[in-house]
Amino acid sequence: MNVPQLTISGIQTGLREKKFSATELASEALAFARAENPATNAYLILSEERAMRTAAEVDAKLARGEDPGPLAGVPVAVKDVIVTQGLRTTCGSKLLEHFIPPYDATAVTRLEAAGGVLLGKTNCDEFAMGSSNENSAYGPVRNPVALDRVPGGSSGGSAAVVAQGTAVVSLGSDTGGSIRQPASFCGVVGVTPTYGRVSRYGLAAFASSLDHIGPFARNVHDAALLLNTVAGKDPMDATSALAPVPDYRAVLNQDVRGLRVGLPKEYFDGLLSDTGNQIQKGIDLLKQQGCEIVEVSLPHTQYAIACYYIICTAEASSNLARYDGVRYTNRSAGAKTMSEMYRMTRGEGFGAECKRRIMLGTYVLSAGYYDAFYLKAQKVRSLIARDFQQVFEQVDALVTPVSPFPAFRLGEKLDDPIQMYLSDIYTITGDLAGIPCMSVPCGLTGEGLPVGMQILTKHFDEPGMFRLASAFERAGGFTV
Ligand code: GLN
Repeated sequence: MNVPQLTISGIQTGLREKKFSATELASEALAFARAENPATNAYLILSEERAMRTAAEVDAKLARGEDPGPLAGVPVAVKDVIVTQGLRTTCGSKLLEHFIPPYDATAVTRLEAAGGVLLGKTNCDEFAMGSSNENSAYGPVRNPVALDRVPGGSSGGSAAVVAQGTAVVSLGSDTGGSIRQPASFCGVVGVTPTYGRVSRYGLAAFASSLDHIGPFARNVHDAALLLNTVAGKDPMDATSALAPVPDYRAVLNQDVRGLRVGLPKEYFDGLLSDTGNQIQKGIDLLKQQGCEIVEVSLPHTQYAIACYYIICTAEASSNLARYDGVRYTNRSAGAKTMSEMYRMTRGEGFGAECKRRIMLGTYVLSAGYYDAFYLKAQKVRSLIARDFQQVFEQVDALVTPVSPFPAFRLGEKLDDPIQMYLSDIYTITGDLAGIPCMSVPCGLTGEGLPVGMQILTKHFDEPGMFRLASAFERAGGFTV
């Protein structure tokens, strides 16, 4: 068994034909993860006991002739902002260094109920704030494709483990691009589903109106299957959607002739780079598959970064108030009064980026500035969402780059938060509108760095998105 090459279908066949057992697979995958992790720092913790227990249950079900579930035996990793019962969950923060959650996130419950084997928790930017994974209190993650480069962020660990092959699939979270951007930097598939498609119960809140859980995989089929497993209404999350979850795999072999694909001109202005060339090759390939390519416009795109960084900091400043030295967190040893306990615990525990966002968020929500910043940003958000609605009356899907540039070097953008924020330019609009979007690999730059192509569709049209992604994959788009 070649762990880094495994796919979900390969595992299903292997188990059925008794080429290996789930227990053998889990122990090989864990050994491989242990061996590879020092190079990338992608896992914060390996859940060996839990993995072996689930794998044994899968084997027992197989032995009894029962259906072990669609993810039976599949090694899965989960971003460390998603809580796991009895298994340390740090959110990449020093504040939560010793936090052992008393329950599992719904997505984790569902993937284990489907037979998925949780190998461990992955490194990420502190509370999912960042685009390079360098904001983790536990050290940066290195991109397995080029170890001197960042894997992207904030779900850098979840992208890296799938790229290096230590997990077959993983879960990340996306608030402003944190699944798609690392997927593009590491050369894997990353999906941000419609807002509300996957329950956020058990996802540490960063910006609640923008947070999504979604899958990473090495092919479209595996991403679709993992999404199928975790999606759907959850009574524990009032914003989870009631809409039925179709079998996404049903669309994977359909052709795309006649599909109208829009290229928003605002996403291509000035994109004259290796990344631009690769995306152009991807678009040419879609044309060869029979897609009709149409230029469209999303006129409010230019306001998206400002709008996002007002809304997400406002929500973050409120959500992070719970980390106060009373619940969840370490408590500052030196605090003598209650107010010192709050101040010192938070002062010592939060990293620079979290503090920056708490201050910005508190500012934009404060009396006197609320209307000028927060309320204005909410209005702009509606305009951005309306741009998409109007465009989806003309086209079936949109195609854009994921990031203006490929994986950059560690440290390269660390001193300039604005530069770092600008790298989210193509991804945050999808989150602001709440529509499904994904990154698929689209070849390499001259330097051998992966490029990601983004596909966006209208609310709940994950089937349309997967259909286009899978046609692209079949036509050889991942290596154009
Ligand atoms: N890079 C963006 C930010 O720093 C997005 C983060 C995310 O999607 N969690 O906010």
